[in-house]
Amino acid sequence: MKILVAVKRVIDYNVQIRVKEDGTGVVTDNVKMSTNPPDDNAIEEAVKLKEAGKATEVVAVSVGEEKAQETVRKALAVGADRGILVKADGVIEPLAVSKILQKVVEKEKPDLVFMGKQAIDDDCNQTGQMLAALLNWPQATFASKIEVKDKSLEVTREIDEGLETIEVNVPAIVTCDLRLNEPRYASLPNIMKAKKKPIEQITASDLGVDTKPRIEQIKVEEPPKRKAGIKVASVEELVQKLKNEAKVI
Ligand code: AMP
Repeated sequence: MKILVAVKRVIDYNVQIRVKEDGTGVVTDNVKMSTNPPDDNAIEEAVKLKEAGKATEVVAVSVGEEKAQETVRKALAVGADRGILVKADGVIEPLAVSKILQKVVEKEKPDLVFMGKQAIDDDCNQTGQMLAALLNWPQATFASKIEVKDKSLEVTREIDEGLETIEVNVPAIVTCDLRLNEPRYASLPNIMKAKKKPIEQITASDLGVDTKPRIEQIKVEEPPKRKAGIKVASVEELVQKLKNEAKVI
């Protein structure tokens, strides 16, 4: 079973995001970038399946600028066998990413595509679903447990009411939740070994996909600053303030 895993390069989740002065976006220059966190879970799960003898090859793919190669390289350092970088500049919206991934799937013919449930930069939660629609493959989103059966997967997914378990036939798209597993750290010897693993580079236009944005971003602004709180002396005072000042009860 061959698994393709989509990994996105995003601003590191520990970075305090700053909006550009002209309101055209957020500052990315000299900002630490990392793999989108649930994509680390997706890679980890694929590598675990390979270690368990249930997967034969794990291929990591990223769409983005040249530097996204670092993200692919990190996936190789934690156990992916080879990488693909699809070069495309600027903002690549989920529809364009899913069209690119569709072309990569048609070429690579994986049995499974693992992705993150959501990218922490755009918060779209769309790419996996769109890819499943484009390929006409079943999808299991928000996976917090995956069990490989003969020609299907049993996936436990987090929903508002609790946990739901579904069975999907392979080939399938699975989008991974943070609770799925504990991603490993890349050891120094594995980082060195990853430098020798192949990364194929292609461009979005080689695949015939138009990546021109369809959404116009009008303005980005900081959320309003939170006002300082006050301390109250008693529950009675709190209730009185909530009633008469905040008028929320
Ligand atoms: P989104 O729909 O933007 O929230 O992204 C959901 C998932 O799609 C991410 O967790 C990634 O696995 C994948 N994805 C989105 N954009 C990219 C990209 N540029 N390169 C590789 N994978 C991506």
